[in-house]
Amino acid sequence: MDKVEEFKKFEKDLVGDKFLPLQEFNLVVGEGSLDPKVMFIGEAPGALEDQQRRPFVGRSGQLLRKMIREVGWKEEEVYITNIVKRRPPDNRDPLPEEIEAYKPYLTRQIEIIDPKVIATLGRFSMNYFLPEAKISRDQGKVFRLNGRLIVPLYHPAAALRGIGVLEELRASFKRLPDIVAGKKLVFSDAVKKIEPPKEAGRPKRKIQPKLF
Ligand code: URA
Repeated sequence: MDKVEEFKKFEKDLVGDKFLPLQEFNLVVGEGSLDPKVMFIGEAPGALEDQQRRPFVGRSGQLLRKMIREVGWKEEEVYITNIVKRRPPDNRDPLPEEIEAYKPYLTRQIEIIDPKVIATLGRFSMNYFLPEAKISRDQGKVFRLNGRLIVPLYHPAAALRGIGVLEELRASFKRLPDIVAGKKLVFSDAVKKIEPPKEAGRPKRKIQPKLF
């Protein structure tokens, strides 16, 4: 079975799975090239995405799509999707059980599309792949995971709320073509929790027991 056939089968299974949560909303599978330069993965569709059944078509989506064009790519050259494929009501965050329920489908979607680079958008998507990463510390870094490169990016909605985040997101975006081309790569492999030092200040000297 070729990629297109496999993807059709994947979509059919996803549409037909009535046990998935948020059934009252429309399914937003994703869109773009099945051989993308980058696979962008956000959190979950919002109201407009639910209406149009397309990912990232609202205000944050417009910013994402503008940045894609700014680095010289066409929207059709990337793939855009979300972890959770239906809208959580009232713009709430996706619940852990919703992320878990859609996980087998995202896993299959990634396997079929087989992107070299995945750019996560926001904290939820980043922590899906890199559970210990912190967005302010790790956005824009390049991680290797299961033969792919993961680049955590700020969610464009956060960039719409603050000029500092917008500038950081734009700077990280500009590096994506080099990352895709395998140029100037610096890997940040292990994301470890940074533990606070056990003792602040000078190390204490061991007290010698008095002998006499
Ligand atoms: N935010 C997301 O994470 N995904 C969308 O599709 C739209 C907004």
